[in-house]
Amino acid sequence: SSCYQALFLGACEEPHWKLTWKSWAPLRVKFFMWLALQDRCWTAERLAIHGLPHEPACALCDQEDETMQHLMAGCSFSHQVWYDVLAWDRFPTDLPTGDTDFLT
Ligand SMILES: [Zn+2]
Repeated sequence: SSCYQALFLGACEEPHWKLTWKSWAPLRVKFFMWLALQDRCWTAERLAIHGLPHEPACALCDQEDETMQHLMAGCSFSHQVWYDVLAWDRFPTDLPTGDTDFLT
């Protein structure tokens, strides 16, 4: 047990791990959220950082650069998805905007 605990010494705990990994969502959704929270999804912004070919505009709305923040909170397409999900769940909150952190 102490050896197992020693593996985690100095490790940083992801503050929203419970929201990601203890939810009822399918594993593929949990994995996507884990990648999104670390900004590790292959968006155009990330492809550009790695020097890989990409289209800079968002593939969903073609109005802004494709970043994780835009896809999750700023895109007009994602607004519609959030609206539908929150309405279905009757979750009383405001829709995310491009100015707020998508995790919020
Ligand atoms: Zn968009």
